[in-house]
Amino acid sequence: MKLLTCIKCNEVFGLSHTYRECVGGHGGGQYIDNLNAKVWGDPARIFVLGFANSSFVSALRDQIDHGDQPADFYYAGKMTPRGREFTAFVIPAAADSVERVLEKFAPIEAAILSYTAGGKKHA
Ligand SMILES: [Zn+2]
Repeated sequence: MKLLTCIKCNEVFGLSHTYRECVGGHGGGQYIDNLNAKVWGDPARIFVLGFANSSFVSALRDQIDHGDQPADFYYAGKMTPRGREFTAFVIPAAADSVERVLEKFAPIEAAILSYTAGGKKHA
Protein backbone atom coordinates (compact mmCIF):
# COMPACT_ATOMS: atom_id res chain seq x y z
CA MET A 1 0.00 0.00 0.00
CA LYS A 2 1.39 3.37 -1.05
CA LEU A 3 0.59 6.68 0.61
CA LEU A 4 1.55 10.24 -0.22
CA THR A 5 2.66 12.70 2.42
CA CYS A 6 3.12 16.46 2.09
CA ILE A 7 5.24 17.81 4.91
CA LYS A 8 4.14 21.38 4.08
CA CYS A 9 0.44 20.52 4.63
CA ASN A 10 1.16 17.89 7.30
CA GLU A 11 -1.12 15.55 5.37
CA VAL A 12 -0.99 11.85 4.58
CA PHE A 13 -3.37 10.02 2.27
CA GLY A 14 -3.54 6.71 0.51
CA LEU A 15 -2.88 6.66 -3.21
CA SER A 16 -5.57 5.07 -5.35
CA HIS A 17 -6.48 4.81 -9.01
CA THR A 18 -8.22 8.17 -8.62
CA TYR A 19 -5.89 11.16 -8.82
CA ARG A 20 -5.57 13.21 -5.65
CA GLU A 21 -3.34 16.00 -4.38
CA CYS A 22 -2.61 17.59 -1.01
CA VAL A 23 -4.89 20.37 0.17
CA GLY A 24 -2.23 23.03 -0.55
CA GLY A 25 -1.58 21.75 -4.08
CA HIS A 26 2.11 20.98 -3.51
CA GLY A 27 1.97 17.50 -4.96
CA GLY A 28 -0.27 14.64 -5.89
CA GLY A 29 -0.53 11.37 -7.67
CA GLN A 30 -2.28 8.11 -8.26
CA TYR A 31 -1.72 4.47 -9.02
CA ILE A 32 -1.18 3.84 -12.73
CA ASP A 33 -1.78 0.09 -12.42
CA ASN A 34 -2.14 -2.33 -9.53
CA LEU A 35 1.48 -1.95 -8.38
CA ASN A 36 2.96 1.29 -9.70
CA ALA A 37 2.19 4.92 -8.91
CA LYS A 38 2.95 8.27 -10.52
CA VAL A 39 3.58 11.23 -8.20
CA TRP A 40 4.48 14.86 -8.78
CA GLY A 41 5.92 17.51 -6.47
CA ASP A 42 9.11 18.73 -4.85
CA PRO A 43 10.94 15.66 -3.55
CA ALA A 44 11.92 17.67 -0.45
CA ARG A 45 8.21 18.15 0.41
CA ILE A 46 6.35 15.25 -1.15
CA PHE A 47 7.21 11.72 -0.06
CA VAL A 48 5.73 8.38 -0.94
CA LEU A 49 5.29 6.00 1.97
CA GLY A 50 4.80 2.27 1.87
CA PHE A 51 3.00 -0.02 4.28
CA ALA A 52 4.44 -3.51 4.27
CA ASN A 53 1.16 -5.23 3.37
CA SER A 54 1.73 -8.48 5.27
CA SER A 55 2.81 -6.60 8.40
CA PHE A 56 -0.16 -4.20 8.15
CA VAL A 57 -2.72 -6.97 7.63
CA SER A 58 -1.17 -8.96 10.47
CA ALA A 59 -1.53 -6.00 12.87
CA LEU A 60 -5.18 -5.54 11.84
CA ARG A 61 -5.86 -9.27 12.21
CA ASP A 62 -4.24 -9.30 15.64
CA GLN A 63 -6.42 -6.35 16.74
CA ILE A 64 -9.57 -8.05 15.41
CA ASP A 65 -8.74 -11.40 16.98
CA HIS A 66 -7.42 -10.21 20.35
CA GLY A 67 -8.69 -6.65 20.89
CA ASP A 68 -6.68 -4.10 22.83
CA GLN A 69 -3.51 -5.13 24.54
CA PRO A 70 -3.20 -4.57 28.31
CA ALA A 71 -2.55 -0.99 29.40
CA ASP A 72 1.23 -0.96 29.78
CA PHE A 73 2.21 2.30 28.17
CA TYR A 74 2.30 5.73 29.84
CA TYR A 75 0.91 8.35 27.46
CA ALA A 76 -0.83 11.71 27.97
CA GLY A 77 -0.76 11.35 31.74
CA LYS A 78 -2.10 7.81 32.13
CA MET A 79 -1.49 4.18 31.39
CA THR A 80 -2.99 3.09 28.09
CA PRO A 81 -2.84 0.09 25.77
CA ARG A 82 -0.05 0.31 23.23
CA GLY A 83 -1.19 0.24 19.61
CA ARG A 84 -0.14 -2.68 17.45
CA GLU A 85 2.85 -1.87 15.30
CA PHE A 86 3.42 -2.62 11.66
CA THR A 87 6.14 -1.81 9.18
CA ALA A 88 5.98 1.39 7.15
CA PHE A 89 8.79 3.03 5.20
CA VAL A 90 9.70 5.95 2.96
CA ILE A 91 9.81 4.65 -0.59
CA PRO A 92 13.17 5.70 -2.02
CA ALA A 93 13.38 8.06 -4.99
CA ALA A 94 15.08 5.33 -7.02
CA ALA A 95 12.24 2.83 -6.53
CA ASP A 96 10.95 1.38 -9.82
CA SER A 97 7.37 1.27 -8.49
CA VAL A 98 7.01 5.06 -8.28
CA GLU A 99 7.43 7.38 -11.25
CA ARG A 100 8.35 10.80 -9.88
CA VAL A 101 7.95 14.02 -11.83
CA LEU A 102 8.36 17.62 -10.69
CA GLU A 103 5.45 19.16 -12.59
CA LYS A 104 1.76 18.58 -11.98
CA PHE A 105 0.18 16.13 -14.39
CA ALA A 106 -3.42 15.65 -15.47
CA PRO A 107 -5.31 12.77 -13.87
CA ILE A 108 -4.79 9.53 -15.77
CA GLU A 109 -8.14 8.21 -16.96
CA ALA A 110 -9.35 4.68 -16.39
CA ALA A 111 -9.36 3.94 -20.15
CA ILE A 112 -5.64 4.73 -20.29
CA LEU A 113 -4.97 2.79 -17.11
CA SER A 114 -6.21 -0.41 -18.72
CA TYR A 115 -3.18 -0.32 -21.04
CA THR A 116 -0.81 -0.34 -18.09
CA ALA A 117 -2.51 -3.11 -16.10
CA GLY A 118 -0.23 -6.04 -15.55
CA GLY A 119 2.51 -4.57 -13.44
CA LYS A 120 4.62 -2.85 -16.08
CA LYS A 121 5.85 0.62 -15.26
CA HIS A 122 4.01 3.41 -17.08
CA ALA A 123 6.27 4.86 -19.78
ZN1 LIG B 1 0.82 20.20 0.48
